[in-house]
Amino acid sequence: MLKYKRILLKLSGEALAGNQKFGISSDVLDNFARQLKEVHDLGVELAIVIGGGNIFRGIAGQEQGFDRATGDTLGILATIMNAIALQNSIEKMGVPTRVLTAVQMPEIAEPYIRRRAIRHLEKGRIIILAGGTGNPYFTTDSGGALRALEIGADILAKGTKVNGVYDKDPQKFADAVKYDNISFDETLTKNLKVMDAAALSLCRENDLPVIVFNILEDGNVKRMVNGEEIGTIVKN
Ligand code: UDP
Repeated sequence: MLKYKRILLKLSGEALAGNQKFGISSDVLDNFARQLKEVHDLGVELAIVIGGGNIFRGIAGQEQGFDRATGDTLGILATIMNAIALQNSIEKMGVPTRVLTAVQMPEIAEPYIRRRAIRHLEKGRIIILAGGTGNPYFTTDSGGALRALEIGADILAKGTKVNGVYDKDPQKFADAVKYDNISFDETLTKNLKVMDAAALSLCRENDLPVIVFNILEDGNVKRMVNGEEIGTIVKN
């Protein structure tokens, strides 16, 4: 039994780099694509929002002397590069996909049009929504929350390199404790890093649950859509 029928899966750009610090690992891409095909074959409607941190982040760009909006534009373009790469990997497995961009580049991909995105899902295509929100000063977490609401997704699933939300950084503290469930309010009062504040408040105000899970562990996307207890669920 599927727990979630239509999901918005936010894939971190950082995870795409694999063991390297930078760029696109074709092994990771193929692993993502395999996992996506697996749940697509179960009849799940899949919309993907992909990050760009493996290539460029606006905030990091500021340290190199870029103004923020310019750095963010480079970040937005990075997400589109990742989207095109992911599309290639998914289509190699025979699953039809469409890339829809928040900034127009019609020679490469369709513009994002909400009703068209929904139509693609209904026709069984995986959609990859690239370019975040299309605006600087935002992140792809906000893009993910926004698109999840627009397409009426059952959940915003955040696939990252860590397997959930902890009370402190598990990479620094051996005694860090993972939450299985937590409320939006609690993540805010405890200042836990689930997503940026803009993305979190969109989800909280519109009652959209979020699940944070480790996408690098094979089979986790399927476990997530089946409602198995993985990662952390954040809701009101
Ligand atoms: N970005 C932006 N507006 C958006 C989405 C992304 O300006 O709506 C830029 C921003 O500079 C961000 C970069 O694109 O740092 C890459 O996205 P993100 O950091 O969210 O990727 P991830 O953390 O998932 O790798």
